[in-house]
Amino acid sequence: MIPPREVPGAADTILRQLEHYGLHWDGDILWQSQRHDAYREAFAWLYDRGLSYYCTCTRARIQSIGGIYDGHCRALQNGPEQAAVRIKQRHPVTRFHDRLRGDIQADERLAREDFIIHRRDGLFAYNLAVVVDDHFQGISEIVRGADLIEPTVRQISLYQQFGWTPPDYIHLPLALNELGAKLSKQNHAPALPHGDPRPVLMEALRFLGQHSDLPWQEMRVDEILTSAVASWTLSTVPNSAIVNPAFSNTSC
Ligand SMILES: [Zn+2]
Repeated sequence: MIPPREVPGAADTILRQLEHYGLHWDGDILWQSQRHDAYREAFAWLYDRGLSYYCTCTRARIQSIGGIYDGHCRALQNGPEQAAVRIKQRHPVTRFHDRLRGDIQADERLAREDFIIHRRDGLFAYNLAVVVDDHFQGISEIVRGADLIEPTVRQISLYQQFGWTPPDYIHLPLALNELGAKLSKQNHAPALPHGDPRPVLMEALRFLGQHSDLPWQEMRVDEILTSAVASWTLSTVPNSAIVNPAFSNTSC
């Protein structure tokens, strides 16, 4: 859910960290904050075709029925006042193929839920925004963390509603701390170190099951990455749910 996630300066920090580790991007950066017209257009397209509806149910009501929305407002003809907008999920996607993990069976209840595409507070929901943006940018392959497996079937169902071809997906294992929590700001994980990026890159390659015998002390960052790309092997990336790495004692 877009704007509240954008902490001032945070995006810039991420970009500087990527650059520090020799990671660059193609073309201009697409900022979600400048894409509201596109989200509005996609949203209107769905609504005009009767593929979405206004919902005034409270969080408390949905909690009281077990946390999965039951389609209560589908036939109620609610107006936009104080309402979220939900997709009318008539063609749920219940499984998808992950190029690393094989066939993934989704939680049926989540796959069939009329999920929110526009929140009551006026923000477009994450699933709508990423699908509209990825389609706009012509993304054909999405590689991301395994924590994002769950919403994938919802995103594929949106591609299908819009008549767009869904991309291929690869969900990589997450780096966890000793407690099994992912290394994120919310879990107070330390930031990526500012020092020599090379040992961290090597650690990341080992974590992803890539060959780790490069003479990295004699290589530049771009040489390490070029070599890693050239010898990249998807079949050796761990595909068990999530792997606990030696990241917690990385020091540089
Ligand atoms: Zn409702």
